[in-house]
Amino acid sequence: MNKRPLYRVLYYLGIGHMYKAFVNKKRCAILSYHSVAPHNSENALYKDMFVTPENFEAQVKYISENCNVLSLEDLNNKLSDKSLPEKSVVITFDDAYWDIYEYAYPILKKYNLPAAVFVSTLYIESGKSFYWDKLMSILNSAKEMSFRGEVNGKDIACNLTNEGSRNNAYFAFIDLFKCEYFERKEELLGQLAEHLRADMDSYKTKTLTWDVMREMKNNNITFGSHTHSHEVMRILSMEEIRKEIEKSKEILDNKLEQVTEYIAFPYGSYSDIGIDAPKIALELGFKRAMSLEQGFALDNSDEKLLKRIGIGGIDSHEEFQLKLLGLIPALNLAKKCILKNE
Ligand SMILES: [Zn+2]
Repeated sequence: MNKRPLYRVLYYLGIGHMYKAFVNKKRCAILSYHSVAPHNSENALYKDMFVTPENFEAQVKYISENCNVLSLEDLNNKLSDKSLPEKSVVITFDDAYWDIYEYAYPILKKYNLPAAVFVSTLYIESGKSFYWDKLMSILNSAKEMSFRGEVNGKDIACNLTNEGSRNNAYFAFIDLFKCEYFERKEELLGQLAEHLRADMDSYKTKTLTWDVMREMKNNNITFGSHTHSHEVMRILSMEEIRKEIEKSKEILDNKLEQVTEYIAFPYGSYSDIGIDAPKIALELGFKRAMSLEQGFALDNSDEKLLKRIGIGGIDSHEEFQLKLLGLIPALNLAKKCILKNE
């Protein structure tokens, strides 16, 4: 069963309206976006990461009319004194892509809403691409249409003849490379590019610049850390975690003339974050940290590591509204039960 028609049916049955009557309203949906940009052939392998400007505007319009949109500082203060307004929302972006300035920022200004961007400082400083963008570049420019061989100690077979199979290959390699150190990832990507006779840099990561970040900072956008090199925190030693967080904070503090108080951990599941990184972030003076575990920040909790709600590029507007209500995990569970009994 495809989940999207199910969401649509439930939406039009009014399940959202019924649910609203019972839900704990003193909670905040911290929305997590990555890119806001039109879908095209270059980003087709990872459409879910790119929310189109049209969808983004519809979402922003909806929350500006129906919710209390807070800055991260407001959220932190209101959580601390347990005064979270009903239907609170915070808008966040991870990775600091240039398209946030190009497409999302004008829309946020139009509706006069605050937001936060989490920056991995190495990529701003060096102009290097994120490994998943290099992978996109390799798979999009490959001259070999199939590959069988050993990659990172595993036997891999993939074919790149159509969008579906390229998509599967993309996520298989993401999983294979994710938990390697930055240099090792570069090495593995180089080997893959050679196998597939592909260009690693036909598609390059374009990030925000310090100049536009300074402009955005003066217009309601908060900048936080997304660590320095965007590694999986769990694979690092405590010393390495401290360096990753400290370095990004130092660069952000200097370049943006601020005290950086918020951090979002890369990848963001509890298992990717591990137990040390949140403790170290608090020791280094961060007030709150963000995960990508799906859920809400609750008024009656003292949590420092907050859950967020990931918004995808293929979400319909109905799905977006159901996510805001926190209904998607329950619906997925219901779907699993239905499929199990079929
Ligand atoms: Zn990220």
